[in-house]
Formats: sequence, C-alpha cells, structure tokens
Amino acid sequence: DDAVLWLLGDQLNPDLDALADADEVLLIEAHGFADRKPYHAHKLTLVFSAMRHFRDALRDRGHDVSYVNAESFGEGVDGFLADRPDAHLRLMRPASHGAGDRLRELVAERGGSLELVDNELFWTTPADWREWTGEPGEEATRPVVGEDGSADSRYRQEGWYRHVRRETGVLMDGDEPVGGEWNYDDLNQETPPDDWEPPERPRFDPDELTRETHEWVRERFDTWGAESLDAFAWPVTREEAREALDAFVRDRLPSFGRYEDAMVEGEPFLSHSLLSPAINLGLLNPREPVRAVEAAYEERGVEPGAYDSDEGSAAGGSATTLDAFGGGDREDEPADAGDADLPPVPLNAAEGFVRQVIGWREFTRHVYREAMPELATADRLGQSRGLPPAYWDGDTDMRCLSEAVGHVREYGYAHHIERLMVLSNVALLYGTDPAALNEWFHLGFVDAYHWVTTPNVVAMGSFGTDVLSSKPYAASGSYVNRMSDYCASCPYAVSRTTGEGACPLNALYWDFLAENEETLRGTGRMGLMYSHLDEKAGAELDAIRERASAVRELAADGKL
Ligand code: FAD
Repeated sequence: DDAVLWLLGDQLNPDLDALADADEVLLIEAHGFADRKPYHAHKLTLVFSAMRHFRDALRDRGHDVSYVNAESFGEGVDGFLADRPDAHLRLMRPASHGAGDRLRELVAERGGSLELVDNELFWTTPADWREWTGEPGEEATRPVVGEDGSADSRYRQEGWYRHVRRETGVLMDGDEPVGGEWNYDDLNQETPPDDWEPPERPRFDPDELTRETHEWVRERFDTWGAESLDAFAWPVTREEAREALDAFVRDRLPSFGRYEDAMVEGEPFLSHSLLSPAINLGLLNPREPVRAVEAAYEERGVEPGAYDSDEGSAAGGSATTLDAFGGGDREDEPADAGDADLPPVPLNAAEGFVRQVIGWREFTRHVYREAMPELATADRLGQSRGLPPAYWDGDTDMRCLSEAVGHVREYGYAHHIERLMVLSNVALLYGTDPAALNEWFHLGFVDAYHWVTTPNVVAMGSFGTDVLSSKPYAASGSYVNRMSDYCASCPYAVSRTTGEGACPLNALYWDFLAENEETLRGTGRMGLMYSHLDEKAGAELDAIRERASAVRELAADGKL
C-alpha cells in the first residue's frame, strides 16, 4: 500500500521529516468553513494562496501531490479514496482540539485508514509537557480548567519557559541563562521618541497566483476587512518566509525589545517580527526564528539595554560588544564577531523574542490541548454582552480603539499590546462574552487559528479562566496613555473618569472591579487596586458607575 501524507492548510512545510518516507502527498482545499463566518479577505487569500503555492513547490521538488478541492474534508476524502481505495493515510496531529480523532473517524467511515503522528511544527511535544507537569501516562489526569473556569495554578508560563530554555539550551550558558537573568522585561517597556522611524516592513507583493486566489475569494465568500490587496504583503511561500525572517533579524530585532509594548498612531507594526502568519501556516518551523535570533545575538549581541547610537539611545551607554560582556565562557568567539554594518542586538531584545516563541507560543498550545473543551466556553466572570459595533466598523472617537480596529480591518493584524491592552481590554471592561470576542479574533486576523486564539482571547484577554494569569489584564486609560501617543489626539480626556467627555476606559475600569469584586478581590495581586476602589466608595463610586453605564449604552449604540 502507498503511504500518503495528508497535510493540512497549517502544515505547509516542505522540509518536514514526515515527507521523507511519504510516497504521495494529499492536500484538501476545503471551502465550506469559510461560509460560516465573514473572515477577513486577506486571511482567506493567505491560507488558500499558501496552500496552492505549497502544492506547486512540492511538485517542483518531485513529490506526487493530489490536490483536492471540496466543500468539506469528508467530500475531499471521498473523492480521494474513490481513486485510491488502498491508500494508507498519515496525518500530523492537527493543532485544533479533537480534529485528529474526528478525521480518523471520517476516514474510517469511508473504509480507509488514518494514522496520527506527532506534529513537527511545534517545538515541544505533549510528552515534553507531561514531563514538565510531572503527570504520568498518555493523557492528562484531569482538565486544567474546571467547570467554573477556575484553573490549576501550578501551570505558569515562566516556569515552563525556563524549563524549555534549559532543555533546548537556547540562550544558555551551561545551566545559567545568558547574562544571568531569565527575563529582561523591565527593559522592554519604552515608548519611542517622536522622531523614531520604525524599520521598513518587508513586503512580499502578491504574485499572479495570490491575485487570482484573492479574486476568487472575493467572489466566492462574504468577507470582512480590506477588500483590495493593496496592503497585503505577507509571505506566502517558504522562501518568502525565510526572507521575512532574515529581514526581521537584520533590521527589526535590535529595537524589538525596547518598543515591544509601545503603541504609536499610524504605526501598526513598529519592530514586531510579523512572523506569526508564516509560523502558524507552517512555512517556518518555530525553531528557525528562535535559532536565528540566538545566532544573531551570538554575532551581534550586546548587553541588555545597550543600543546602537543611531537608534536614539534612551537607556544610555554605548553598545558594548558581547566579548566584553559575555566574559570567560566565550573564548571560542572570534574577537570581532559582530557584523560592523548591522546594528547590535541587545540581550533584552533577543531574550524577549525567544520568550514569546518558546515561552508563550508553546505554552498556550499545550494549555489549549489540555484545557479544551472547557476553555472555549470558560466565562468565570459571567460576561454576556455582544461586541460593540465599533469592532466591526472601527467607527468610534476612542483613538486607541479606532486605531487598533483600523489595523485589523486593513491588515488582518494588530500587534500584541493592541490585541491585549486595547482590543481585549475594552471588550473585557465592557462585559463581552469571551466566546464572542474569540470568534471576532478568529475571523479577523491573518494569523488566527482556534488553538492560538482560544487561550489568548478567552484566558489571557478575557479572564474567562485564570489558567494563563492570576489576574485579568484590565487597565484604565492611564496605561494606554503611558504606552502610546493615542490619548494626545483623542477627544476623550484621559485625565477624567466621570462626566461626558471622560475617557471611557476609566469609568469602565472601576466599574468592572466593583462588578466583579467577589471573584477578583481575593485573587492574587488585585489587593492594591481594591484598596483604591474602597477609597472611592460613596458618591464618587456612584458617579463612576453612572458614567460606566452611559458608556456601555453609547458603545452598544455605536456612538462611543
Ligand atoms: P512578535 O511580537 O514579533 O512576537 C514573536 C512571535 O512570538 C509571534 O510571531 C508568535 O509566534 C509568538 N507569540 C508571542 N506571543 C504569543 C502568544 N501569546 N501566543 C502565541 N504566540 C505568541 N497569536 C497568533 O499567532 N495568532 C492569533 O490569532 C493570536 N491572537 C491573539 C489574541 C489576543 C487577545 C492576544 C492577547 C494575543 C494573540 N496572539 C495571537 C499572540 C500575539 O499577540 C501574536 O502572536 C503576535 O502579536 C503576532 O505578531 P508578531 O509575529 O509580529 O509577533
């Protein structure tokens, strides 16, 4: 029997080990899912174009590829098995909850067989996770999230991150983290000076195949977001994805750390890597960006907080070479390892990036695996409102929200702090049902898949469960003011909490704390905020709650 490797639309990597012993490759381009929600046109274009390019790339490499167009996987498998009844299918375990078993059944019902193998496109395996949690056996012994949304607090990202650093040796000096600290986040909270220009975004202009795909997407589906391809610049092939990675490491990595949490009007990308769409499609294996950043640090590394003087140094001090900083363990480094033409890479940038990928990305994936299906509907705070219409049309005077929604509409992208501290924060304080917000993220972002939005949106962004953090990421206007230049041009006054014209986030924030006191007062690290709330008891709190309810009404009516 022929061994057929079935690859899903988020497994588009031609260098997989699994391809080495496959006689044939099956790709099913299933369309029905995209009829159920108004996905961003760029997202559908990206996924379908990347699949079509992948088909062509595999054929160029000499693989025998069956490419089936179908409404559903069931129809696709029917079509394939009709021609090839003896084929033995193999599939890398899908990232989506339950999908592996579902597809195995679907194939079995049609008289075929499907074997599930490990998914090479994550760095760590379910067995690695179990080794870390110390749970024996094949399956988790209990769900991570309980029915009321409360979670087992043994699972914290920081512990996982250190474990993976040790296991992989990434940025390690023997048993110690390079530089002596695991985490340099305190250096990664600067906002750029007014005259700072972000490095140019690498652009991969749509080719003929992407354009055709986009035209078909526009005809075939009801989509949301930018209709033209003018702003579409995502890599759609492995070669382009590798180029995007090179460009990030060359140009953006040096300032990635320091401005990681900043928000600047008219600048959706800053120094972020913009690699999530490529990593999540499989075009890049997550090891590649991590190893590339580590190698760049080895060549161009400088101490944390030391920047090239051309970059407008705020932290002070000239860039010190790694040889001076790294000390005795680095004698094997050539004396002049740095490329003189490229800006130095401070340790806080390299470490910050590595943490996002082997810390957060791998961690959220395992939490998702273990905590589903409870995670998808977790709603610890009992929030039940729908999303305000501004999330769809971007029509609001709140500058932070109109900027962030505008970026999503135009690019299918917003960076992490916009996702967390604007788009999720506003929805959280407003009282949005976490599942409704999850659906919006899922359809609106080019890098969104159920396995990654669900932990990020339901847990991190909405505090539907405390599995990812012990307190909600809730913030008033002063956080947005500190991390962005939005408030300066916003008609709402960030300095005021009550009355017309006051920043909506302020009243919503205190009202949210008051509303959820029972759940939140006792949870870790909220004590200080509740003592501030206690000081407001009486007339001040009454006025706050009145303003909050006026804000909610305006938001629901699309008039905020
Ligand atoms: P960078 O800032 O350059 O970060 C580097 C890489 O780290 C990313 O490419 C990504 O692979 C990884 N990463 C960083 N944080 C996370 C995280 N929390 N979870 C998973 N990976 C992470 N990420 C997605 O890939 N798809 C999503 O649909 C998605 N939705 C999100 C929704 C919310 C509410 C929040 C708070 C976060 C979400 N994230 C999502 C995580 C993160 O915001 C994005 O990965 C990141 O913004 C992608 O842009 P970038 O490649 O420029 O990231």
